[in-house]
Amino acid sequence: MSNVDNIVSRMYKAAEIIKLDERLLTILPTFKLKWESDLLVTMDNGEKRSFRAMRFWHRTPYTDAPHKGGIRFHPDIDAEMMKSHAMEMSLKIWGMKIELGGAKGGIAIDPSKFSDRERKNITEEYVKELVERDGIGPYFDVPAPDVGTNAEVMGWIRQAYAKQRRKYQSSSFAGVVTGKSSDYGGIPGREPATGYGLVVALKKVMELKKLSPANFKKVAIIGFGNVGKNVAKFLANENFNVVAISDVNGGVYCPEGISIETLTRISRPSDVENGIQISNKKMVELDVDILIPAALENNITGENAANVKAKIILEGANGPTTPEADGILTDKGVLIIPDTLANAGGVCVSYFEWARNQNYLDERIPIAKNGRTITEEEVLKAMAEMMSDSASEVYKYSQKYKVDLRLAAYMVGMTRIAPLLKRKYFV
Ligand code: NAD
Repeated sequence: MSNVDNIVSRMYKAAEIIKLDERLLTILPTFKLKWESDLLVTMDNGEKRSFRAMRFWHRTPYTDAPHKGGIRFHPDIDAEMMKSHAMEMSLKIWGMKIELGGAKGGIAIDPSKFSDRERKNITEEYVKELVERDGIGPYFDVPAPDVGTNAEVMGWIRQAYAKQRRKYQSSSFAGVVTGKSSDYGGIPGREPATGYGLVVALKKVMELKKLSPANFKKVAIIGFGNVGKNVAKFLANENFNVVAISDVNGGVYCPEGISIETLTRISRPSDVENGIQISNKKMVELDVDILIPAALENNITGENAANVKAKIILEGANGPTTPEADGILTDKGVLIIPDTLANAGGVCVSYFEWARNQNYLDERIPIAKNGRTITEEEVLKAMAEMMSDSASEVYKYSQKYKVDLRLAAYMVGMTRIAPLLKRKYFV
């Protein structure tokens, strides 16, 4: 089964339990936009090269609000995978009571193999192609950072969009993309938001399940980019013991724990002094209490799930656990805090950023008073409140219907959106 099939079959399961109007099952598995193209870009040596690019929008009832989702730069980008992320993005957003729709896309490149100018040219060509199709814009689709992209790339997207649109539109262009730097239309707190949100979700679920933090101290984190590095720092700050971290080149294990000073200072796991080098395969099987996959999808599979020793899996990455692994882990009694709930902090703060750029009103969005600028603490606090509400709701569904948190998160999102979808498509 493809990743999209897996999600659709989970939607069917959720629909049966919440007794969803069956007509909605003809809407929910569909996409508003499926776009793939070969970008032609001039390289530094003057030659043209082509790059596979794509973008997908899941279906949403909100005609007056944009789609939202990350842009990934990675050589193994795959259409089915991106589509599944767009769908799960919708469920994540709806679970937080945010009126947007899911999207996802990217370009098949290894960004480390290109000069800054080449990456900028590739980004500009991507935006140009999307503008030609009304495939990007503050009220069409608002991308955000994902694997291989960052605030710098988001800034290029804003500029490239403005270059294309300034003849036709005079309003601000800042709301075309989120995750920008705070001196370029961004919001403080967006960069650490996903990592911070993971800690909020973990603590809330542990509180609801009456699990004592004292029994869940040892943590291993796979992936040390935006999500992995930030969650590591926040956990260390909360007295968890981060004993292992890894990136694409492998991991490092320190039985005594890695200090917050080290986690803040280093940019790669291999920079940790006196650690034991371990493979990413071993990372999955480490004897820890909490395992955080924060790299790519399909990290925990039918092949390695039986060897997982962690009692909690906190999904920082999107889709890190295959359905086969899900079954094995659940049978073993492992608690999975699913991506659709756990890593929603990033899109939540992105929503704040977009809303501020567009003067969109929502009383939950933090606003600075008395002329001062908003702080990172205020932004993360506002996000934490929304994450906690969402975690409580998902937990409530899981208890009421005796299902795991992953299915409960689907049920919450689908229940919220059902009346609006009916109004839009079945009048
Ligand atoms: P990133 O590019 O900043 O970091 C990715 C990290 O994963 C890097 O350290 C890289 O070396 C490592 N990595 C790549 N392949 C690996 C492998 N096979 N084994 C171990 N490590 C590997 O990306 P990010 O923004 O931190 O995103 C990580 C995950 O979190 C992705 O699944 C992304 O979709 C998800 N996510 C990100 C955000 C966000 O705000 N950035 C929000 C929600 C979900």
